Amino acid sequence: MLNDDLLGRRNDAVPRGVATATPVFADRAENAEIWDVEGNRFVDFAGGIAVLNVGHLHPRVVAAVSEQLTRFSHTSFQVMAYESYIELAERLNAIAPFSGDAKTILFTTGAEATENAVKIARAATGRSGVISFTGGFHGRSALASAMTGKVNPYKRQFGPALPDVFHVPFPNAERGISVEDSLKALDFLFFADAAPQSIAAIIIEPIQGEGGFNVAPPELLKALRTICDMHGIKLIADEVQSGFARTGKMFAVEHSGIEPDLVAIAKSLAGGFPLSGVIGRADLMDCVEPGGLGGTYGGSPIGCVAALAVLDIIVDEQLLKRSQYIGGLISARIEGWRMRNDLLSISAPRGIGSMIGFDILDPDDGMKPMANGGKQVAVKALEAGLVILNCGGKGETVRVLVPLTAPDVIIDEGLDALEKALQVVS
Ligand code: PMP
Repeated sequence: MLNDDLLGRRNDAVPRGVATATPVFADRAENAEIWDVEGNRFVDFAGGIAVLNVGHLHPRVVAAVSEQLTRFSHTSFQVMAYESYIELAERLNAIAPFSGDAKTILFTTGAEATENAVKIARAATGRSGVISFTGGFHGRSALASAMTGKVNPYKRQFGPALPDVFHVPFPNAERGISVEDSLKALDFLFFADAAPQSIAAIIIEPIQGEGGFNVAPPELLKALRTICDMHGIKLIADEVQSGFARTGKMFAVEHSGIEPDLVAIAKSLAGGFPLSGVIGRADLMDCVEPGGLGGTYGGSPIGCVAALAVLDIIVDEQLLKRSQYIGGLISARIEGWRMRNDLLSISAPRGIGSMIGFDILDPDDGMKPMANGGKQVAVKALEAGLVILNCGGKGETVRVLVPLTAPDVIIDEGLDALEKALQVVS
């Protein structure tokens, strides 16, 4: 089967609303390598959008899932529960990035995690307002897309967003938005649109993923924590992209020193299997009446055993440390590229641990981030044998989401391909 044939069939059979970053089709994958149907091999720095911190088909994940498949694949936790769900909840409660008792509920997708975190906050506070940040991404379902801070392409064609969701600017030093500006905007919001007593939750990504790998300054998170405490608002950390060792800690919010009330998790939680969840303070988590939360597939037994293996792998393979090491390697290479005049102009690397991104800059436009610059580099990278994603409000950022289990030689090979993709064509 050829890529071009599949692309034709895909375009005929599948709507363009679900966009695909590459025009090649997967055949098989292992750790940080992926082969297409024509036998072309790629280094994978995308990890299926931040899902594969332990790589494709980690043998321990495969073993756990295979064993589960000899027993049962599905009962629905809501029909007949199983131990792996409970054990996973216990393990996640034990590593919750806040003090005190925790409880965990499991779902399937990241959007369900963020939506349900808000449902829990609404039930716990009896309020409906939600505040999120510009450029943030929380999913594509109705409430999640209302919270997502980008109109195009996530909201434009879909009618009015759900009410009672408000946005304030995410600080971005490079673009002239200070923490003070963000907090001032929050004050204006409280003055003009929604009293703090009507707000159930503030949701924030400790590091924006789709929005451009922008780190939330710790001063902002600290101020939000204070504001939430002052007004009885619940603080939700969306760790869907930044969680599970990506930043060198289990959760990115741990770098800030503040404690959220609820944490949305998904993606790398289950090493390639669809699983998500909300970890929260136990008293909040029990505010919802039985039946108010759930989903047929939520906490699938396949996902649960995969996640238990992932948590073991993170500890046994010391992936927190490895994440920091890999991040150092990547940042050093990016810094080196900035000195070169045979390569495209790029910004300094930003991020924490192995959650590293950089912008492509436009020398003809005062070195501003170049619209679609990251996208163009990703296209060239594929030709050089690397799958890598862009992000950022204008597609200006290149982001690295290499599996933390990738050996150094594979990381070097991927970075060599990325360097090739940055070459200026004259
Ligand atoms: N939150 C964040 C921070 C994300 O990065 C994403 C997915 N990119 C989501 C929520 C939504 O996850 P899903 O696509 O699984 O619904």
